[in-house]
Amino acid sequence: MTRAGRPSNVIILAHGGAGARKMTAAQGNCLGDALVAGHAVLKRGGAAVDAVETTIRILEGSGLFNAGAGARLQLDGARRMDASIMEGSVLRAGAVAGIEQVRHPITAARLVMDNTAHVLLMGDHATRFARHFKLDRQPPLTKAQRKALRGIPLTESQRQTLILYKYLALSPGGRGEGEGGTVGAVALDRSGTVAAGASTGGIPFMLPGRVGDSPLIGCGVYADNESGAASMTGLGESIIRLTMAKEIVDRMAVGAGPATAARQALTKLAKRIEGAAGALVLAPDGRFAIRHTTPHMSAGWWNGKGTPVVRDRFT
Ligand code: ASP
Repeated sequence: MTRAGRPSNVIILAHGGAGARKMTAAQGNCLGDALVAGHAVLKRGGAAVDAVETTIRILEGSGLFNAGAGARLQLDGARRMDASIMEGSVLRAGAVAGIEQVRHPITAARLVMDNTAHVLLMGDHATRFARHFKLDRQPPLTKAQRKALRGIPLTESQRQTLILYKYLALSPGGRGEGEGGTVGAVALDRSGTVAAGASTGGIPFMLPGRVGDSPLIGCGVYADNESGAASMTGLGESIIRLTMAKEIVDRMAVGAGPATAARQALTKLAKRIEGAAGALVLAPDGRFAIRHTTPHMSAGWWNGKGTPVVRDRFT
């Protein structure tokens, strides 16, 4: 399923996850607002990476998606999040994995990119790093999350048994459905630079310590001005094995358009490992595609003309 276009100028694309779930009206409105805010950055001559961060911050802060304020609870009762950001002029990137207690993991990833000599910080160290920069704290658990926590056994051995039981009960390649999905964005600015970002609370029933594709450069995101940008959503265990974002961008580097590159990579994912996923794909000349092999993908795009396009199916 795809939506391709050829906008003349700057453009931003965003998504709120791919899977079986349909988009709610509130999620659709939030995606629209996030696209407008991201586009405003581009329109005033701002950088693609700023537009991506701005857009993702709105999605993270909404509590409507499985990211930031809305990140899902994991089996041991913690909310650990992954995020990454990349810009395509000199291939700078930053990421955090297993970060806790922050409302905007995408900003933590951006700070790693801008303020360290590293690409990826993980766990407690990433959380401490965010605290050092006084990033906004994640809001307290919702009533539903507190209720879910009460179902988690109290002793460590009971908890581990439950975690393993639930983990083993997952069908291969299968995934439970939460309320909201991972979020992501890609953008093209006036200087011709592309950027990509992703932010997530992970997948249901994940073992503590599990890291998905979203903070892994080349897997969940990639951006290169010479070939294009991609941001992925779907089961990380599948996306990682095919380094999907880089796979798509590499296909564009040898001449495929965004829709073709996405279709070929998603077909390979389905054929080789029975995976299903969704992708935002943007070429340096502004051509783009939103493509998914899941039943739905909440996503949209805006190039400043008319109103933002937001849907949960792209055919
Ligand atoms: N890719 C995310 C992960 O595996 C989940 C998602 O996109 O829904 O952590």
